[in-house]
Parts: sequence; C-alpha cells; structure tokens
Amino acid sequence: MRQKHEGCRHEVPTRRAFAMAVKGLLAMMLVLVLGLAQGAGQARAQGDPGTGFSGLATVNPTRSQLKDRRGALELTLALSQGVPYRVFSLTGPDRLVLDFREVDWRGVDPKVLLNSDLATGVAMGPYRPGWSRMVIELAEPLALQRSDMAIDRDSGAALLEARFTPITPEAFAARAGAPALSGWDLPQPGQALPPRAPGGPLRILLDPGHGGIDPGAEREGVVEAELMLTFARELRDLLTRSGAEVYLTRNDDTFVSLEGRVAMAHGLRADLFVSLHADALPSGRALGTTVHTLSREASDEASRLLAERHDRADLLAGIDLSESDDEIAGVLMDMARTETQPRSERLAEAMVLALRSEGLPLNSRPRRSAGYSVLKAPDVPSVLVELGFLSSRRDRENLLDPAFRARLAAALRDGILAWKIADDTLAPLRLK
Ligand SMILES: [Zn+2]
Repeated sequence: MRQKHEGCRHEVPTRRAFAMAVKGLLAMMLVLVLGLAQGAGQARAQGDPGTGFSGLATVNPTRSQLKDRRGALELTLALSQGVPYRVFSLTGPDRLVLDFREVDWRGVDPKVLLNSDLATGVAMGPYRPGWSRMVIELAEPLALQRSDMAIDRDSGAALLEARFTPITPEAFAARAGAPALSGWDLPQPGQALPPRAPGGPLRILLDPGHGGIDPGAEREGVVEAELMLTFARELRDLLTRSGAEVYLTRNDDTFVSLEGRVAMAHGLRADLFVSLHADALPSGRALGTTVHTLSREASDEASRLLAERHDRADLLAGIDLSESDDEIAGVLMDMARTETQPRSERLAEAMVLALRSEGLPLNSRPRRSAGYSVLKAPDVPSVLVELGFLSSRRDRENLLDPAFRARLAAALRDGILAWKIADDTLAPLRLK
C-alpha cells in the first residue's frame, strides 16, 4: 500500500527514473546483441539517472572503417564504450541509418572511413541532444545481415561490426522505414506560446540553416551550419536591441528537421520567420545576397534546385517530408497562405531594399522564389535569405568578416522594421 505522506513527492522522480531506465533497456534489447548490457550499464551509471543513457562514446578512427568485403559492405566502429544503437534503412535515396545513444564523431573523417563501392557516401553527426546518427548512402540496395557489439571486459571499449548484403530493390523498399520504438522517439519541437499582445514586441524566429548531421555547404574550411549560427546570434542581438522578441530554431550544432522548423514558427506564433543560408553552387559564379519566398508555382529553376538540395539534406538525415502537408487541413492552410503569401513577399522586398540602400552586394536577381519546405508555415510570413554563396570567394571572405556581417545584420533589421510598419497599416484588413 502506498503511503500518503511527504515522502511520496520524492517517490515520483525515482519511479520515473526507473521507468525510463526500463524503457531504455527494452529499446536496447530490441535492437541489441549480447555483450551490450555491460556497456549500457556503464553509460547509464555515468549519466544523469533521469535521462537514462547520456555517456558519450568516442570513436577510435584508426580502427574504424566502412569497406567492401566479398560482395558485402562491412562497418567496423571502435568505440570507447558500449552504447545502445539501432539500424534501419530508408529509401529515396537508398541509405542505411545507424542511431547511437550517444557517439562523439569528432576526429572521424568520413572520407577516410569510407572505402567502398557499395556505399557512395557516409555522414555522421549529432542528431538531437542525446542522439547521434550515421547515414550511409548506398549505390545498391543492402540489408543488415548481422551486427555485433563486443565489449572488452577490462577496458569497457566496444567494437561494433555490422555486415550488409545485397537484396532486391523490392525487398529493400519493403523493409525501409524508421522503427517507432518508444524511448527512441524525438521530442516535439517548440512549445506553443500565446499570441503576442497588440502593440507588443515583434516576435521573430530566426532559422540558422542546417546543423548536426547536416553541415550544409562546406568550402575552404568554412561550414555553412556554423557560420549561419554565428550570424543568427548576431542578428538576434541586433533585433533584440531594437525591441523585438527573438527565438532561434537551434542554438547549437544540432539537427532540426525542416518540418520541425516550420512547426516551431507555428507553435511560437511568430510574426515572421527568417531562414539563413549561405550555400555553394557548383558553377561558382553566383554571388551576392538573394531573398527567397515560397513560390505560388515553382517556376524559378535555380531556386528549385536549391530547394531540392535543402530537402534532400533533410531526407538524408532521415525525415520524410512527403506527408507533412497532409497533417494540416489542406483548405485552412490554403486560406492562411493566401493571406500570408503577399506578406512574405513584401518582407522579402523590404529586405532587398534595405540591403540595396546599405550598398551591400546583391545577386543580379536578388528576389527569387521556389517550393522550399522550410517556408511552408501557412500562417507565418517566411523568407529564406541566402546571405551569399560559399562557392564565391568574395562572398566567403565577406561573410567571415565580422564588420561585413554587422552591416548585413543591420540592413536585415532595417528591412524587417520597415516591413513591420507597412504590415501594421494593413493589419485591420486581415482575417483572424
Ligand atoms: Zn543552406
């Protein structure tokens, strides 16, 4: 019989911690093989008991590889300790996904790790807090034949060996999909906030592009995901000083799905959403800032390709966007978009105007549009700003210069504030 006294208050977290540990163990048993219990126990012992496994395993790169052997793909991963993991596959493009709880990938070069014709690429990185992911892109369909994580009794070090063998495309498609195991589920993005009071501060959601397993463009050691986070923080500070209430979709190097970013804009009831990018184009000719909006019909070929690439990075990281639109009632969404679309376009125009009057380098066609998934919040005016192109040396140098970034941030702030004044005069005409 439970005692009804003060002690019960302490009982709850203990029970919860136990339940979480059990849940974690169940998830582990479902995906793991012999020998792991010891490693998982260690991880749990090192971590916070409330969150279960939070020990971070490091990789020994010299003993790790991904190579072809006798017609099969073999992964060897030497870890400093055993961690729970799971393996599954996804289609479009075909790839294998390994989730770990949790591996620090620093010091592991994908190019050195990968030595295979069956696999065409490998990416690793943090996925969500507490989660790490490895994605292997495949040249042909493969399925997990066996995996084994051996734990050294003395050192606690672990050696994961997994073997993947060819299967038919039909069999691959039939097996593909992320398993829905409780305990592995990801947290819901962005808690809902009440709408801002009339005349209250402008609520802005800034979206540093990419992050975590998806670094975005990389040129000459400059990583888009890192640079965008730096710029987003600078812009946030500037906007906050002018009285706005500013949020970021991510404040560290973690992966946030495009869908999650859109959901956050909606949940925050943001007044506007600004996605920040600096991509690289193969031709290397594109330069200067461009401001993109969602197209009414995706007509702009260059923007369409860029949009596809962003969506693809998200797909590679394991998120399926194909059904995301269906989750929101189509009709309501269209109604909201009819109203939001021109507001987004005016925001983009105000930004371009401010950039131009500041004398900042603009692209020859600074206003573009395409079917960007990240701009699909039906009720939040949204723009995607390509600050410049990492493939352009001039843009790269500009974006690495704090003084240049300060001018860029000031111009975007001015554009946003100018838009706000114009938008407020139209507010009485809107639905809601
Ligand atoms: Zn980007």
